[in-house]
Amino acid sequence: MEERRLESAASATLESGVASPREQRWIVPLSDVLVDDEIEQAVTGAVRSGWWSMGPRVEKLELEFAHFCGVRHALAVANGTAALHLALLAVGCGRGDEVLLASLNFVAAANTIRHTGAHPVFCDIHGVDDLNVSPADLEAAIGPRTRAIVVMHYGGYPCRMDAILELADRRGLTVIEDAAHAPGALWRERRAGTIGNVGCFSFFSNKNLPVGEGGMIVTEDDALAERIRLLRSHGMTTLTWDRHRGHASTYDVVAEGFNYRMDELHAAIALVQLGRLEQQNAARARIVDFYRDVLDRRSGMTIPFAPQDDVTPAHHLAVLVLPEGHDRDGFRAALAEQGIQTSVHYPPIHRFSAYRHLGSSRSLPLTEVVEPRLVTLPLYPHMSDDEICAVTEAVVAAT
Ligand SMILES: *Cc1c(COP(=O)(O)O)cnc(C)c1O
Repeated sequence: MEERRLESAASATLESGVASPREQRWIVPLSDVLVDDEIEQAVTGAVRSGWWSMGPRVEKLELEFAHFCGVRHALAVANGTAALHLALLAVGCGRGDEVLLASLNFVAAANTIRHTGAHPVFCDIHGVDDLNVSPADLEAAIGPRTRAIVVMHYGGYPCRMDAILELADRRGLTVIEDAAHAPGALWRERRAGTIGNVGCFSFFSNKNLPVGEGGMIVTEDDALAERIRLLRSHGMTTLTWDRHRGHASTYDVVAEGFNYRMDELHAAIALVQLGRLEQQNAARARIVDFYRDVLDRRSGMTIPFAPQDDVTPAHHLAVLVLPEGHDRDGFRAALAEQGIQTSVHYPPIHRFSAYRHLGSSRSLPLTEVVEPRLVTLPLYPHMSDDEICAVTEAVVAAT
């Protein structure tokens, strides 16, 4: 398995002239994809079929993803950001509205909120042990113009959805789940993405269901699904695939839509990856358990998100909270010296140049004190024991 992976990375480089992550200086990269015959054959099959977009593989993927999540509708899209944009538009977010979200987040939700004309209002995290958004701070941020909440299940650990659903219900707000980190995660036997009104997934190469670029929207709501389907494809009432099959001969345009569709090649890879998701999430869980056993509470370090009875996380990220006052740059440099790649999830959105001037007057004290201590460690399902131990040994040596 290991050799196959290295071999394919090397031949990919020969063919394309682009260095794979494996050939940069990292001995243990932050994340890695496995390339094997089944994936190659799935792509070749889609290519040889001669039908490259809006075809049977996308349709099959939507059915299988909906079944996997136990939800009525799954709509495949070009990427996770397109999923968020369509979800926000479909629930009616627009000019004059405010949408609540955590600042400790990937920027896609904030950007897409602004693309709808709405205003993002940033909220604080729960704490060092739970980096998800604080339900109490969400409630504190609600104003007369608040329309929706975007909850992001950080690292694949579901948010405190009981408090968030209760709040949304009481204050009449829509809940959009950014489940980019959380495909397959369970919260009280419900899949992440199916707990709120609409859920969004990303199939970017470093996510739990890696495809390259791709995404999915799930919902129980028939009207929302219909609106998303329209906006996904130019606001047109019938699709190429339907016309091809003789189901329709012409079309109308009933909304100013987009082309946010997924193509058949990506759907072909996604179908293979979906079949592997639960097994790969379980492999991630074992690695994070090991990190937790060795590192949690050692020399002032914390591994957040202690296991909970009614939650099965998707373990997208292995996050470490450094001891208070520890030099993060020095720590990351020490690991890099050993060939171990790390990252930070995330630089808070409210501090970015494009967002600072929005002048959100809300203070986010926990985000401010916890973020400088965050480091993300390598995590991918096929990590070898040697790679895992190299990480923990380097962390212990650097703290
Ligand atoms: C990756 C990611 C996205 C965006 O997904 P893309 O497929 O890259 O557009 C959105 N939100 C979060 C939390 C993500 O991690």
